[in-house]
Amino acid sequence: MLTSELKPAEEILENLAQGERVFLVACAGCAEVCDAGGEEALRRLRKLLEEGGRTVVGGTSLPFLCNRALVSLRLGRCAQQLKEADSILVTSCGVGIQAVAAVSALVVHTASNTTTMGAFQGVWPSDERCARCGDCVLEYTGGICPLTVCPKGLLHGPCGGSHGGECELEPGRSCGWQEIHDRLEQTGQREMLHRYQPPKDRRRQLDVPLARRRSVFWALEYAEEDE
Ligand code: SF4
Ligand code: SF4
Repeated sequence: MLTSELKPAEEILENLAQGERVFLVACAGCAEVCDAGGEEALRRLRKLLEEGGRTVVGGTSLPFLCNRALVSLRLGRCAQQLKEADSILVTSCGVGIQAVAAVSALVVHTASNTTTMGAFQGVWPSDERCARCGDCVLEYTGGICPLTVCPKGLLHGPCGGSHGGECELEPGRSCGWQEIHDRLEQTGQREMLHRYQPPKDRRRQLDVPLARRRSVFWALEYAEEDE
């Protein structure tokens, strides 16, 4: 169970230019259970954007947005609507937003924050991709999480130790900030590298008490107890 919430309306609108044509994507899995996904979230985002002077060219909601292969298939079916879009606005856990960014050449905007993971990291296997910080910055980093892709979790750019695009801490591993730089260049958002990132408010990270970590499925097992 991955817990997420929609970002404040002003923050969502702030990142979308007047008249921008946007395609909406919502996760119909964990995010829907948290009221941050599914058809209802699509409806709310559409209303927000249209009242704010943006154009919604279409939208889709699908379970397991954290599965990169499924996302690629589904977006492939929306190719016609995506051709009309300047960007994609995604509401999901951080893994789902990164899956959309990984399969699309369009700018990907972030409509939600991830506060806890509770269990497994979605169904995009291999690495940890979201550190559930509660204040998602994927909007400014090309849809690649700096807290997980860089072993130092740097928020403000590279440490300066990278050699030939490799991380100084783990030879053979790409420098995460090199990946962020390349993606921002590809989407025409290089100016994001100069953006100041305020320090994170760690109180927004609803971490799991150690006593509850005896099972990776704690969130499902204890959900009712916690209500
Ligand atoms: S910035 Fe990274 S850790 Fe924070 S919510 Fe987004 S993907 Fe998760
Ligand atoms: S080399 Fe890159 S990925 Fe490695 S710690 Fe430095 S900035 Fe982070």
